[in-house]
Amino acid sequence: MDFWQSCLKRLESEFSPQLFKTWIAPLRAELLAENTVCIFAPNSFKLQWVKNQYITHLQAAFDEFFKCPITIDFALSSRENAASSDNKKQEPHAEDKESVRNNLNRLDSKPAAVSKNNGVAGLNPKLDFENFVAGKANQLARAAAIQVADNPGKSYNPLFLYGGVGLGKTHLIHAIGNKILQKNPKAHIRYIHAERYVSDVVKAYQRKAFDAFKHYYHSLDLLLIDDIQFFSEKSRTQEEFFYAFEALVGTGSQIIITSDTYPKELIGIEERLKSRFSSGLTVAIEPPELEMRVAILVRKSAQEGIELPENAAFFIAKNVRSNVRELEGALQKVFVYARFHQQAIDVDMIKLALKDLLSVRNAQTSVENIQKTVADFYKIKTSDMYSKRRKSSIALPRQIAMYLTKELTQKSLPEIGELFGGRDHTTVLYATRKINASRQKDQGLNHELHVLEQMLKA
Ligand code: ADP
Ligand code: MG
Repeated sequence: MDFWQSCLKRLESEFSPQLFKTWIAPLRAELLAENTVCIFAPNSFKLQWVKNQYITHLQAAFDEFFKCPITIDFALSSRENAASSDNKKQEPHAEDKESVRNNLNRLDSKPAAVSKNNGVAGLNPKLDFENFVAGKANQLARAAAIQVADNPGKSYNPLFLYGGVGLGKTHLIHAIGNKILQKNPKAHIRYIHAERYVSDVVKAYQRKAFDAFKHYYHSLDLLLIDDIQFFSEKSRTQEEFFYAFEALVGTGSQIIITSDTYPKELIGIEERLKSRFSSGLTVAIEPPELEMRVAILVRKSAQEGIELPENAAFFIAKNVRSNVRELEGALQKVFVYARFHQQAIDVDMIKLALKDLLSVRNAQTSVENIQKTVADFYKIKTSDMYSKRRKSSIALPRQIAMYLTKELTQKSLPEIGELFGGRDHTTVLYATRKINASRQKDQGLNHELHVLEQMLKA
């Protein structure tokens, strides 16, 4: 099997079938020199998108396959190749226009190089503290990360970061790794995604190479392990990780873990691990608030040398609310649209560029959808959203749905009351205040609300 086929196999397991089919399967790759791989994309839109969104996945796949750090270059496939795999209907703006191509070629002339040392550590040097925008939503996590980067092994061990997708967990732990590496280039650092750790355990098992595996992991100075929820139900991995954990913490090495949920909520993870996870510092990253979303947009535009007017930034930030990754995706769409149509960026243009995204969002956050999603989540009937039943197992989800309706739609309190079985607006007000107050105190509820918000905004 050639290297790209083998990497594709691995990548396929990391994405949903839909994402894989849309973005990864149409790519081709060629080994240019000993350690340079060129990725060919069928059009400039896909090229830019893959480069922005999936480079870390590609990097990890190549590093693993070649067992050495690989430099990735990007290029457009030739026209003939593009014709077969390109889906023009999906990307109406990605037709072959010379100006777009030139612009993109200029942008892409700088290869996404990863330095030797970083390749070995698995770190992406571009993810650092300097380009991590601070805000209320991530200030605790960021402060903890900085403190750990300044005193590895001595402040919080482990540091456990949790939060929904696209909120910056991976970025932040790479930033810690990069900072520690910068101060101590000899430090033994490893960034690894939990899924990859699982597959490494399996390989060590098959090759009867556990001694080498243990030796490697137990002698690190810093272990960054991402998305630990993937250890769920993997008992052999959990056992290995438990030993690694004890060995590392015992010798003062730093461990940093990320997860989509806080330790106690992890499903399919041994108790002894969960209690170890909570034995250091556990901090959440919250979805970014409006001001932070604007700041991120402005920063990312400046990085690309593109001027984004303030009202345009506000418009995007108001409409794309769930996470930073989605925000970046929307911004890229706007850039591609502006470049293609040779147009300055303003609100009217953004409405066109993000048409699909905006209409999906509106459809998904309809009140019926909120009611149904919340009812399904708490396993009650959707009709109980309008019923008079007051049992708390029903009243609480109903209050949550009212709260989410207020938060996610433009509906007024009386309108919401009407849609929830003709209730008075004071009932809605009470519900939104109550849930708002409870989520500040109750971590479990706060997490459930995050999950619901992600589902509704996805
Ligand atoms: P997670 O690991 O939580 O799913 P990532 O760390 O992969 O999220 O972040 C998604 C994208 O958003 C990345 O491109 C990352 O660089 C960017 N990002 C997230 N948070 C910030 C931030 N505070 N400032 C700048 N970029 C951010
Ligand atoms: Mg991540």
